[in-house]
Amino acid sequence: MGWLSERVIDWQRLHGRQDLAWQRTRDPYRIWVSEIMLQQTQVSAVIPFYLAFLERFPDVRALAAASQEQVLAAWSGLGYYTRARNLHACAQRIVNDFGACFPQTAELLEQLPGIGRSTAAAIAAFAFGERAAILDGNVKRVFCRFFGVEGYPDSAPVLRGLWRLAEQELPEIGIEGYTQGLMDLGATLCTRQKPDCAVCPITERCVARLNGRTAELPMPRPRRALPSRSTVMLVLMRGDEVLLQRRPSPGIWGGLWCLPQVDGGLIGEPDLAGFGLRMHAVTELEPFEHVFTHFRLMIRPLLLDVSLFDHVAETDGQLWLELSEIDSAALPRPVKTLLQRVRAQRSMAVKT
Ligand code: SF4
Repeated sequence: MGWLSERVIDWQRLHGRQDLAWQRTRDPYRIWVSEIMLQQTQVSAVIPFYLAFLERFPDVRALAAASQEQVLAAWSGLGYYTRARNLHACAQRIVNDFGACFPQTAELLEQLPGIGRSTAAAIAAFAFGERAAILDGNVKRVFCRFFGVEGYPDSAPVLRGLWRLAEQELPEIGIEGYTQGLMDLGATLCTRQKPDCAVCPITERCVARLNGRTAELPMPRPRRALPSRSTVMLVLMRGDEVLLQRRPSPGIWGGLWCLPQVDGGLIGEPDLAGFGLRMHAVTELEPFEHVFTHFRLMIRPLLLDVSLFDHVAETDGQLWLELSEIDSAALPRPVKTLLQRVRAQRSMAVKT
């Protein structure tokens, strides 16, 4: 066995994480759900969502049979909703094309929606013991430091080199402990800020540590200013109900319930005739910013008290929701936060 893998496996056995909610199982469904949740979210934040999600959807058939609305609602609060839509689509593929049995190799798993190369390898290693290499964000950081890899790790040539290293270091036996060990090392010792090199099992040969370069590696993404967009969000209140519209999918917040938006800005008052609404009062709320991966969205919320014209029926993709029900609805986080603020202000106004 190689020097690196031997130390990582031994360290994992003694000091790694052993009792996470998704460990000690070979059930590919449970492993898959945890791996998808962990892609952009920290372990401590994932645990309560993971347990509630499994209670709601105990197996792949239950998940495949649910509506997208139900899956998004169970995901609400975890962010990065494409993961939830892919999870749902993937469950349906597994049920329809594989008779509800997960494919057993990383190569086949990688063909499914939302399962990239590293996630496929992790599922194959933990569920089926396949000797497959992972390379998630934490592992990239460990390898960049340990091998002294220069350049931004997600640029194509650097990434190719990292995959080569990941495959080259795979142990002949003990893939589960090695895979878990790399994940644990990256999450608990070789952290972004202040890696704990003094107790690291691979410190002796770590290039970044030996050369005093742990703060420099991995190298950051070359700087690029995020473009900025603006939108007006209309909080249309009819009594205690707010009007929500389902966003088209695919797209930003696709499939989620959102407030009607006027992208780019608004001159004068909004035209509400298209919604079949009559406006009674307008209040400017405090603007705020939401940062997406590729741009910043400057949000200017307007609170409008409205009433409905008698002759206009509710249409598909529109919903009047009581403010008291927003906590469990499938809303993007900034919309939920904004509506919670509106609800708090209204209940203060009633009391005074
Ligand atoms: S010695 Fe430090 S920098 Fe190197 S892998 Fe271990 S924790 Fe990371």
